[in-house]
Amino acid sequence: MSNRIPALLCALLAFFALGFGETVLEGPALWLQRYLQIDTTNPPGNEEQAAHFLSRILHQEGIATQLIFGPHGRPSLYARLEADNPTEGALVLLHHMDVVPPGEGWSGDPFSGKLENQLIWGRGAIDDKSLGVAHLAAFIELHRRRVPLSRDVVFLAVPDEETGGTLGTGWLIQEHPELFADVDAVLGEGGINRAFNGKHHWWGIEVAQKRPLWLEVTAFGRAGHGSKLNLHTAPHRLIRGLSRLVDKPLEFRVTPETRQYLEAAAAFEGPFFKDLVARLDEIMAEEHPEKQLLPGLPNYFLDTIQVNVLEAGEKLNVAPEEASALIDIRLLPDTDDEEFLATVKELLGNDFDVEVVLRAPPVSGSPTDSPFYRCMEKFLGRKAAVIPTFIPGITDSRYFRERGIAAYGFSPFVLESNEVRGIHGPDERIPLETFEKGVETTTELVMTCSGKD
Ligand SMILES: [Zn+2]
Repeated sequence: MSNRIPALLCALLAFFALGFGETVLEGPALWLQRYLQIDTTNPPGNEEQAAHFLSRILHQEGIATQLIFGPHGRPSLYARLEADNPTEGALVLLHHMDVVPPGEGWSGDPFSGKLENQLIWGRGAIDDKSLGVAHLAAFIELHRRRVPLSRDVVFLAVPDEETGGTLGTGWLIQEHPELFADVDAVLGEGGINRAFNGKHHWWGIEVAQKRPLWLEVTAFGRAGHGSKLNLHTAPHRLIRGLSRLVDKPLEFRVTPETRQYLEAAAAFEGPFFKDLVARLDEIMAEEHPEKQLLPGLPNYFLDTIQVNVLEAGEKLNVAPEEASALIDIRLLPDTDDEEFLATVKELLGNDFDVEVVLRAPPVSGSPTDSPFYRCMEKFLGRKAAVIPTFIPGITDSRYFRERGIAAYGFSPFVLESNEVRGIHGPDERIPLETFEKGVETTTELVMTCSGKD
């Protein structure tokens, strides 16, 4: 009885503070709101506050955590629920705490975490804090219900994914391989689900992805007054080199990962897409395959070169000594990166300084016949079909795959294509209902695939 008056008072205060009709968030939705309010824009990341926030929630449940700081001072948060007599290797629930800079064009504060029209707003609402909270909720539920486990389950929150993960997952797995010695599967971001017109067609489990070969290239030349003829200034050399590079003929090819994905997806698409997939080899043999592919599809068959940042002089009438570019190259899973880099250097020409910012070796996709994948397929298959996908993007899954650990990109949130537009763009938000369903799906999935029968 004694608790009732303060509780009633709190409810009344909340009612008047928030106004009539506004939902008061609680549980995982409230965690997400608070998580979104922590600005973890990368660079620089500032993930420490986020790591402490997640840690506090786990401590309140009586779960021990480890904060692991790298020499760069950025923390990873690691917690493990131990099985009594494990019969399978551990499962890691992985997400990243950092977010990309909000950028321009938001209709409100990107770190408000506000709930408006049943949508939770904020940078990270989809990528990747909602997934992190779904993992956290599932992890806590296993602990609260004392679910007998068939394997250890690890909750892992990392920094630095958005700039390549070298100081996050890359560093952690390199310096602390013991944390992952018995891991069977990693569940992380990168899953894509197909839903349109209110119907959920399939769950896409990401099993393969492209690899980054990010470069900074610098050209040098004689500095001088802009009024003098000088054909070989640094900017001129850079322009010529880059133009040879971006004019490199496109070399299309179908990798097994892309074929597996498109063939699986074709079963749910219309006749045009089905026909396109049936004729893939024929199309690739033609002179301009891109003319026959739908927008966005060429990426699946190409190593791409995108020059995204240019830097040279500051004054119109002065030739600078140096000019540089940042180049985002994405390689197919089996491209030889050494060879590709040698070609890039050759095309740029002599006297270029080429610095590799980020690279990843060729790697095989995660298996679709592992017990964990099969379990996901069986469990999720009750709601919609499950297909193995290939994504042109990159995630931290590649660090695990490089070490022979199966990693799967899975999103429990079923969003239509117009709802995912906010990822890396303005007005990122997630419908509250979708989020809550996703939390439930994650919890059930983890319980099903890590609990004892
Ligand atoms: Zn992400």
